This record gives sequence, structure tokens and C-alpha cells, in this order.
Amino acid sequence: MKAFEAVQYYFDQAAERLELEPAMRDMLLMANREVTVQVTIERDNGEPAAFVGYRVQHNNSRGPMKGGLRYHHEVNLDEVRSLASLMTWKTAVVNLPYGGAKGGIEVDPRTLSMREKEALTRAFVDKIQDIVGPDSDIPAPDMGTDYRVMSWFRNQWEKYHGFNPAVITGKPVEEYGAKGREEATGRGVGILTVKLIGRLGRKASDTRVAIQGFGNVGSHAAKFLHEAQFPIIAVSDVTGTYYNSEGLNIPDLLRHTMDHPHGQLDGYAHCEKLRAGALLELEDTDVLIPAAIGGVITAENVDRITAPIIIEGSNGPIFPLADKQLSDRGVTILPDILANAGGVTVSYFEWVQNRQHYRWSLDRVRRELELTLVEAFEKVWEISQQQKVSLRTAAFMIAIKRVRRATELSGGPS
Ligand code: GLU
Repeated sequence: MKAFEAVQYYFDQAAERLELEPAMRDMLLMANREVTVQVTIERDNGEPAAFVGYRVQHNNSRGPMKGGLRYHHEVNLDEVRSLASLMTWKTAVVNLPYGGAKGGIEVDPRTLSMREKEALTRAFVDKIQDIVGPDSDIPAPDMGTDYRVMSWFRNQWEKYHGFNPAVITGKPVEEYGAKGREEATGRGVGILTVKLIGRLGRKASDTRVAIQGFGNVGSHAAKFLHEAQFPIIAVSDVTGTYYNSEGLNIPDLLRHTMDHPHGQLDGYAHCEKLRAGALLELEDTDVLIPAAIGGVITAENVDRITAPIIIEGSNGPIFPLADKQLSDRGVTILPDILANAGGVTVSYFEWVQNRQHYRWSLDRVRRELELTLVEAFEKVWEISQQQKVSLRTAAFMIAIKRVRRATELSGGPS
């Protein structure tokens, strides 16, 4: 199954419950604009190299479009299209005044030197600078990009349009970035995990967590949940699964990845090491947090997944057939559009600060993040109980209703 088909399936589950009119369904599913560009650079050895870049602008009925930039070798139009539409539903479910977009370049960033990565980013900006801007479409970090890429992006965009740091979020803190943006997605995953298990009547210290992916999202979620007394029994990255049934020493692991040249878990010795894929199937996991690439839980491996609670730290980790089977089995799934919305929420705070030339303290960012996510969670929980639907369908119902209302008021995407 393709990534966009999966989002369409989840959308349709909610659209049916809302009895959405067919014309409105088509309007809300289809992207407003899809751009594919050639991005060329000169490699360090003097050879030219061409890459393909995308920006999909899904919907702007509720405000300027918002969404990350992904540098990954598997980026393709279908994936970017699915991620752009998830951004529309994500910003709507947490009620940020934004629409949704996403972009990316099909490139393995590990094969680029720092200079090449900068050149690639600047060349990409040259191709899309006229369709992004602080009032139209605001990019941000995603897989394979970070505050450095955001900084180059802003600098190149400002060469065309003049000073305006609100054109992009996830910038370095000393260059108009927001305190707490980097940790925000993982922290949000943590905040919502605490909230959800409370609702399910469980105690943190008796709830064993396994986290797939130890990048920006996974590592910050692990830190937060470790501090909240959850035993983190396993974490993984491409190099393997690192497991301890009693709970891993997360501060020690974080130190290890900070010292590692590629930020990986490789070489960490104070636990059992299993193959990377083993993490999803550990039988003593209570909360499974996929926080890496999409499409990792499919019809093929769903039978071997035994965790009763899944928190979608990454975008689109579960394909529909697997989702159906898990739901039938009574597994509680906190969907991506809510679970990982902490990142875009603090991006919004960054954009607000930029526009006001004002700076918030880390405390304020964290407080407002928690308020925003908890309010969204309560609403999703309530609809899911009232309507007897999954948390995913409830989240989509809330989001679709908001976008539909904005579309009706304004007449559709501009
Ligand atoms: N890339 C992140 C996401 O998927 C953040 C987007 C943003 O901050 O605009 O939600």
C-alpha cells in the first residue's frame, strides 16, 4: 500500500461518520499545489549532481501552510503528499491557525558533506522561494534536516525577500529559534503518553516502554518518560535494538549517542543487543512508540506485535490493514496527528515570537505546549468515547470538521 492511500483510508473512516458530502471530500483530500523541482549542486570532487525536490501544499483554509522538509533517500511524491495532508489534520486537531504542507529531497543526507548539504539546501530554496513565505507556507525540520538546514534556508530565502525569520521554524535558538523547539516533538510524545496511560488507569512505574528510533523524536521521548519514572526497556536505531528487561539507563545512552560520530547507539554495551526489527515484537512491552520511518507496522508483521498501547511518534507508522487488526484486538493507538503534534505546536510558538520580536522563556514554551496538547487530547478522548470510535477516527473527525467549517466560511483553498 502507498502512503497516501493509507491517509485517505483514515480520512474516509472519519468522513463517513461525519457524512461528509462527496464534493467536500474531494476538495479536502486533494492537495492544493504540488511542486517537483530539479535541484543541482557541484559535489566536493567537482562533479555535478542532480536531485529531485518536492513541496506539496495541501490545504490553507485555516491559515498559512506548515510542515517540515525531509532529506531521505526514500522521499517521493506519494510520501510527501501523504505527509502534507497529515499536516493539515495535525494543525487542525491541535487547533493551530495553519494549514498543511510538506517537502523534501530524495537524498541520503549521510552521503553529503556539510558543504554539499548547504549547497543543496540553497539550490532548493532558489527553486521554491516564490511559493514559501511567513504568510503562505512555512517549512520546518523533519527527518534528515535540523537547525543548520533551517538557518541556510532562511538566509537564502532572505536574499530574495529581505529579513523575515518567520519564513521557517526550527531555527538555531541564537538566530530567532524558539527555546524548546528541538525537544518539542519528543516531549509532546511523552506528555501525551503520561496522559493516555493515566486515562487507562495505569501507573508509570509499571508501564514498560519500547521506542523504535533514537533520533530527535525518540531520544527526547525517552528522556521525558525516563524522568517520569517509566522503565524504558528497549530503544533501537538502524544499528540494532538495545534491550534490558529491567529498564535501560537512558542518561547513559544519551551520553553515548552524543559521543558517537553519527549520533547512533552502535557500541553501547550495558545491555542486550538484538536485531533492529526485534524492538517492535518484544513481548514484555506495554507501550510501543514507533519514532522512526513510516509504514513499519503492516499486515505482514502485525500478528507479532503484542503491545497493548501504541503511541505514533513518527508519521504514518501503521498501515490500515494492520490498524484494523490492532483495533479489533483492543489495542489503544494514539494517532500521529495528535501524538507527534508537539513539534509543530512549538513551531507555531516560534513563528509567533518572530512576528512579535519577542522571546519566550523555556518554561513558558513547555507550559503552553502542555496546555495545547492536553486540551487537544481531552477533546479527542471525549469524541472517541461519545461516538465509540478509535482515537484516530476521533482525531480525524475533529480535524475534518474544523477544516470543513473554514472551507465553508471562506469558499475553499486560495
Ligand atoms: N516535521 C514535523 C512534523 O511532522 C514538524 C513540522 C513543523 O514544525 O512545521 O510535524
